[in-house]
Amino acid sequence: MNFPRLFSPLDLGHTVLPNRILMGSMHTGLEDKAADFDKLAAYFAERARGGVGLMVTGGIAPSIEGWLKPFGGRLTMPWHVARHRKLTRAVHAEGGKLCMQILHAGRYGYHPLSVAPSKIKSPITPFTPRALSSRGVERTIGDFVRCAKRAQDAGYDGIEVMGSEGYLINQFLAARTNQRSDAWGGSAEKRMRFPIEIVRRTREAVGRDFIIIYRLSMLDLVDNAQDWSEIVTLAKAIEAAGASIINTGIGWHEARVPTIVTSVPRAGFAWVTKKLKGEVSIPLITTNRINMPEVAEQILASGEADMVSMARPLLADPQWPNKAKAGRSERINTCIACNQACLDHVFQNRRASCLLNPRACHETELRIEPAPARKNIAVVGAGPAGLACATTLAERGHAVTLIDQANDIGGQFNYAKRIPGKEEFHETLRYFRHRLEDTGVTVKLGQPAETTDLARHDEVVVATGITPRRVSFPGSDDPRVLDYLDVLARDMPVGSRVAIIGAGGIGFDVAEFLVEHRPSPTLDVTRWTREWGVDMQLESRGGLSAAKPEAPARQVWLLQRSDGRPGARLNKTTGWVHRATLKAKDVTMLGGVIYERFDDEGLHITVNGQAQVLPVDNVVVCAGQEPNRTLADALIQVGIKTHIIGGADVAAELDAKRAIDQGTRLAAAL
Ligand code: FAD
Ligand code: NAP
Ligand code: SF4
Repeated sequence: MNFPRLFSPLDLGHTVLPNRILMGSMHTGLEDKAADFDKLAAYFAERARGGVGLMVTGGIAPSIEGWLKPFGGRLTMPWHVARHRKLTRAVHAEGGKLCMQILHAGRYGYHPLSVAPSKIKSPITPFTPRALSSRGVERTIGDFVRCAKRAQDAGYDGIEVMGSEGYLINQFLAARTNQRSDAWGGSAEKRMRFPIEIVRRTREAVGRDFIIIYRLSMLDLVDNAQDWSEIVTLAKAIEAAGASIINTGIGWHEARVPTIVTSVPRAGFAWVTKKLKGEVSIPLITTNRINMPEVAEQILASGEADMVSMARPLLADPQWPNKAKAGRSERINTCIACNQACLDHVFQNRRASCLLNPRACHETELRIEPAPARKNIAVVGAGPAGLACATTLAERGHAVTLIDQANDIGGQFNYAKRIPGKEEFHETLRYFRHRLEDTGVTVKLGQPAETTDLARHDEVVVATGITPRRVSFPGSDDPRVLDYLDVLARDMPVGSRVAIIGAGGIGFDVAEFLVEHRPSPTLDVTRWTREWGVDMQLESRGGLSAAKPEAPARQVWLLQRSDGRPGARLNKTTGWVHRATLKAKDVTMLGGVIYERFDDEGLHITVNGQAQVLPVDNVVVCAGQEPNRTLADALIQVGIKTHIIGGADVAAELDAKRAIDQGTRLAAAL
């Protein structure tokens, strides 16, 4: 049997889970409107078909006060039950199991009705919450219980009580947010009463045959929070109150330590769950940056947890469990933890999806169906756009030839995968290598596409990507002025002092590449926790210690012409991590820069009217990109039916999310 521990059943007494895989709670943006529940049902049904043991919905509020945002998803009225029944029916029809997460946002609520244990505004929301009265606390507990009861009426297999990530329950538990002096605050024991009463009264209301997962904040990663002994005491009390399973929560949303981005090592927090093993007798779930079956199996084998939670990996590949079970883990489309289409979308109030799988949360709309007639199609360029397009076309039954002038597939992903903290990009290329084979695409590498050859095809898709933008100032043609491909593709030597021109995504990545010693900290949990100040001994409240970043490998200046803070336009949920990483490596980040000239003294710049010389050995240009349309223009000129996708289409603000989405959608339509 492949991954025997991962695929061993978990007996909860009244029900048996078929394996140890939980699809953790993830907001998709489809929970909020009744009209979207058919789409949400299709999304869950597809994952149930993929063989996951148990799933948890995105957070559903037990009251309007508990909303994450105005008009967010809630289950508070009898008529709300019917829409939730659509989900449970769809999942049960596929043999799956589904729990509903009850999430009260507390002071994280993005609306003026928010409440909290004390009137203390969070650093990440503009609204000051109202402090709950003692009666208000009782009413809120009642809201949780009623919500759980309605979830049971809707056919859910259980609920998850969201007690972590800094939401209301966490706010009750920590002295930093709970300054009450009544029965619900003042001592650790009193602060704990709120979650314990929620679980105890919920168990009473729903009976024994209903799963209650409690998401326990095991590592707050903020000051003046719980200490480890309090966390253990709470875990025991939650078990005694009637929880069936304890799930791990890591870090409040306001924490300044990354917890799920791609630069967090795989299974980087499983050691936290392990510390709780033996303290309670109910199953423990571990979570965060677990994305491959080998990692999950290792966690279970080493006794760190009884079950593993993965949310984004099942967004990326709904067939993850079936593939693992069948011993085909090399076929898994591995989540690269980029957050670009999932969490970033949710934070922008957009529907979640996945950079690697544009069908995620769009299952009813983006259908990959057999082509009405088989065509002979050439795809030129094996970057993300071309790979997605070629494999989807072939899956639909077309005869597809994929041509790239490089000796390997992947396009710019071959450079991205070299950035410390982006090692996961290797997995995408591994996935596509197998997918090309499985879908029967003919691959021709190491040869530029010839117009005459292409003319033999019914249609041609041009996915030839971009060319790096060149800059021009006195000295810019000096051999010491490099572009990012000289560094990442051609391994040209770079001196110990470097200026980077352009502070977009690639400028930041190149800076991280240049300051980092090899191998990258992402591959070593102990080194990573030391760099970010996570106390692995769990001796301090909140689990924080002084960060001890290693000295940078080079002195780097990161520059942009526009005014303002470099990196302000990086992605919502990951940009702060990139900025903090470079700050810890003493990178000087400057906006409003005019590039005057480069000579033996270094790079001459003007900032705010002041002339400066940066005494650098090299300059690396990361000044954006231009579409590479030479081939497309030639094909159009001779009248060949041509489609243009990815960077070849529009280079501005291009990323792999757009490239893969565009490639997949074109392929679904041809
Ligand atoms: P490319 O990836 O540029 O692929 C084009 C392909 O066409 C190449 O393989 C090339 O060899 C081939 N080709 C060109 N001309 C011809 C021809 N005439 N004949 C045959 N073949 C030809 N994006 C993200 O979303 N997230 C990230 O975190 C991220 N990080 C990045 C980090 C770095 C360091 C870099 C460089 C890029 C990063 N990107 C990231 C950007 C992302 O890689 C690109 O947006 C994406 O690769 C564009 O895909 P594409 O298929 O359009 O083009
Ligand atoms: P970019 O984000 O557009 O940034 C280009 C940078 O170059 C900007 O700082 C720009 O700022 C500067 N610039 C533009 N024209 C210039 C000129 N003529 N002279 C000097 N400077 C100039 O492009 P990129 O960094 O090349 O990234 C390409 C794409 O890859 C991005 O769109 C990004 O989405 C994607 N990517 C994403 C990630 C990620 O983590 N999500 C990582 C890497 C790349 P000024 O004009 O102010 O100088
Ligand atoms: Fe994973 Fe990125 Fe897809 Fe989100 S968008 S599920 S982080 S690969």
